[in-house]
Amino acid sequence: MYQALQNPGSLSIKCYPKCNIMSPETRLEGIGQDAVRCANCGDPVTPFQFEHGYTVVFDEARTIGLTLDKDAAERIARDSRAYAKLPECSAQYSILLFAPHDLVGTVARTRPFLGQLGTMPGVRMPDSHNAGDFGSFLIGAPHEYALTPDQLELRTDGHMDIDAVRPGTIIVAPVKVAGAGVYMGDMHALQGDGKIAGHTMDVSGTVTLQVEVLKERELLGPVLFPLPEDLPFLARPFTAGEKAKAVTLAKQWGITEIEESGPISIVGTGPDLNSAAENGLSRSAKLLGMSLPEVRNRATITGAIEIGRLPGVVQITFLAPLNQLENAGLLPLVLEQYDIG
Ligand SMILES: [Zn+2]
Repeated sequence: MYQALQNPGSLSIKCYPKCNIMSPETRLEGIGQDAVRCANCGDPVTPFQFEHGYTVVFDEARTIGLTLDKDAAERIARDSRAYAKLPECSAQYSILLFAPHDLVGTVARTRPFLGQLGTMPGVRMPDSHNAGDFGSFLIGAPHEYALTPDQLELRTDGHMDIDAVRPGTIIVAPVKVAGAGVYMGDMHALQGDGKIAGHTMDVSGTVTLQVEVLKERELLGPVLFPLPEDLPFLARPFTAGEKAKAVTLAKQWGITEIEESGPISIVGTGPDLNSAAENGLSRSAKLLGMSLPEVRNRATITGAIEIGRLPGVVQITFLAPLNQLENAGLLPLVLEQYDIG
């Protein structure tokens, strides 16, 4: 028997009630969902059980995935570490060991991204819980990782599961410990907005980052400047043709100045989607010096709220006036990422 102390998030496991020890030493026995055993008593221990799962192979260029049947999934499970390309020193079992095969012959398009990319929180917490949704499970929890609501405010939302966090994206992350503590992981081959299954395709990979420090700025949560094609339709910079139409309207109606704007995407997290949206909206208002109603209007007419992950990670994306982006110290990043004329 086992007891998962946190699910989702696979925080830690306890062999219970037999041994009653936290995070026991483990050994492998065969393949499948019961393959990981308590080394002490031999009972299965796992933080996760899947009701429905799949095993996927990718083409040489890693652009297309195909889900496999029982025989193929089990063949891969018997050599899971090699097929998962786990780094040599990585201390983990590959999920391929479970040999899931509930979907067979399903084709999926890849678009790799990092589920985790950020900075260390200002309080000790498992990386899996460094966001307002999973983090809220730690408030008053009956184990060593319990937090108070005030401590949860020291999170940095590094576990975003936002699929725009992929090659070419710019992330501005809050610094809450000396040296920032940039960390990354949780690479996925693809994911639809919402990550509604609670899990997706976990893969190995390499990441190259360029890090710069923005000094003397305060930031409540992560800010993204996604690739142009990842922006919501309404939040894309205006083309020359669109701007010309706006100029014509301005002349007809006596508007002397047309606002110059650029995209920004602000992350909000909370126990559920509504609170995540409120969190992101208030972070946006504070960052850009706008009222909440103004942020709501801008995000409605020049942007969108997108779901990173359920239950509570969102992106508030909209076109913000360049002067306000400049006051927030973010204009150079906007100009680097987008062609805004
Ligand atoms: Zn045991």
